[in-house]
Amino acid sequence: MKVRIEKKNKNIYVFNYENGANFLLGNESYRADGPLLLDVSITNRCFRNCSFCYKNANPFGKDISMVDYNRVLQEAKLCGVTQIAIGGGEPTLHPWFVDILKLTREIGIIPNYSTNGCNLTNDIIDATSKYCGAIAVSVYDNINDYKDIITKLSDKKICVNLHVILTKDSLDDYINLISEPPKWFQKLNSIIFLNYKPANGNNDLLLNNAEYSKLHKFFEKICNYNICSIGFDSCTYTFLNEFTDINKAYYDYCESARRSAYINENLDVFPCSFYKGQGISLKQNSLKSIWQNGTTFINHRNVLEKCKTCPLYKIDFGF
Ligand code: SF4
Repeated sequence: MKVRIEKKNKNIYVFNYENGANFLLGNESYRADGPLLLDVSITNRCFRNCSFCYKNANPFGKDISMVDYNRVLQEAKLCGVTQIAIGGGEPTLHPWFVDILKLTREIGIIPNYSTNGCNLTNDIIDATSKYCGAIAVSVYDNINDYKDIITKLSDKKICVNLHVILTKDSLDDYINLISEPPKWFQKLNSIIFLNYKPANGNNDLLLNNAEYSKLHKFFEKICNYNICSIGFDSCTYTFLNEFTDINKAYYDYCESARRSAYINENLDVFPCSFYKGQGISLKQNSLKSIWQNGTTFINHRNVLEKCKTCPLYKIDFGF
């Protein structure tokens, strides 16, 4: 088993290169050497045309060039990145998708990707099984429409997560789903609930607007669910703090600009994919200099540091 153990500034980071499992002990506010996780959009192409798509992905979206992707890999390696979360658009539509997975693994970084599941050809599934740590299938349709593809991936021993967006309006559906999960959920590694972000301006769907009793019921059901693992993105931690008694050691707050960064298909670098400011080009700057000196990164860290002055901060994180 190949494991990396990084000890710095009273923090210990452990990463398993075989399956991507990792954990961090300590409360380092940010990793000075660079991000550990890179979120990389390799294409803005997608045929689904979802009205809520915050990337405005479309059938004519741009693919990252292989020269540019190789630059991402070289820069990532210099920073000690352990994982690249490949996304889009629909990343499997990139003409060199299989090569991207292979190159990433060969340089010593674990590739993972998220997909809408519409283009998982046998070649892509085989490459996923060979090179990836895990994949995430994003749920946009009836949940049972995903049964066949999840079964196929699971039969190939691929670690599959379902990505589900939590909105005010989806709570009822998920309460029912968690109460009576379909049998094929046993094939999942985990269900990851992602807090809805109003990147397209529709604040009405925010979880904050949901009835308190529904939120309470949802998290109660979650705490009693045991068919597969359940996870949440860090944007959901305030709800976990309010509605569950999960040990605070398992929480983390926004990782953007602290341990992760986002790069789009034009090689612009941002703290995260939802960031609405100007990106900093990786064509003219090294990833390490963007990470350490980029205004957007410094500003974002400053905002997060301000959270520590809130009286609730100690309660949330226990330090
Ligand atoms: S499937 Fe995903 S990438 Fe494609 S249009 Fe919908 S939200 Fe955008």
